[in-house]
Amino acid sequence: MKLHQLTNRIWYTEHDSATDRPTLGYIMGDRRSVMLDAGNSGAHAELFLEAVRRAGLPRPELVCISHSHWDHTFGMASLGLPAIASEKTNALLLQMACWGWSEREMAKRLETGEESAFCDTHIRLEYPDLSRIQVRGADIMFQNRLTLELGNCPLELWEGVSPHADDCTLMLADGVLFLGDAYCSVPLGMNGSMIKTCWKNISVCWRKQTSVFA
Ligand SMILES: [Zn+2]
Repeated sequence: MKLHQLTNRIWYTEHDSATDRPTLGYIMGDRRSVMLDAGNSGAHAELFLEAVRRAGLPRPELVCISHSHWDHTFGMASLGLPAIASEKTNALLLQMACWGWSEREMAKRLETGEESAFCDTHIRLEYPDLSRIQVRGADIMFQNRLTLELGNCPLELWEGVSPHADDCTLMLADGVLFLGDAYCSVPLGMNGSMIKTCWKNISVCWRKQTSVFA
C-alpha cells in the first residue's frame, strides 16, 4: 500500500476497487496524529499502519470516522485506537454490530434492502472467512461540530448532508477537506435540496481557502 503525501501534514492512500477498500487519510500534528476512516477490515487497517511505519511517521493515536458504511468502519475493531464518530454514525454502527454474518442472515438483508448487492459482493471478497467480521461502536461521539487540536494543526469535524448516506462527517485540516464518500450520488440519489446543501458545504471550504479532496 502506498502512502501519498498531499501537504506537510496530510497523507492518503488510494481506493482499491478489488474489495472496495476506500481512501484512508492521515494527519500529523505536532502533538499527535490521527487516521481518517478505519478501513474495511483488520487487514486493510494493518496495511495502512504498516505504510505509516515505513514512511517513518508517528503511529496515529485516534481514528475519525466519516460515515458508517462497512468499507470505512469494519477495520475499527482490530485497530486498537479510540474512534471518534458522530452520534448518528455511532447509532448505525451499533445497529450493524448486532448483525449476523451467516448465509441466511446476509441473504435476508439483501431481500429486505438493508444491504446492497454491491456491498454483499465486496464483503465476501474482503472476508473469505465471514466469521472474522467484527463491528463496534465509536469511543467518542459528537453532534454537529467538533474540533481536535493536534498541535499547530486543528482538525475540524462537522456533520453534513450527503446524497450518499444518512450520516456524514466532513473533516478539515491543513487546508484539505476529507469527504469520505459524501459527494458520491449513490445509493441514496441526489435531489435538489441535497445538491444545494452540498454546494453550501463546499462554499464554506472555499471561503476558508481550502482544497477539496475525496
Ligand atoms: Zn459509503
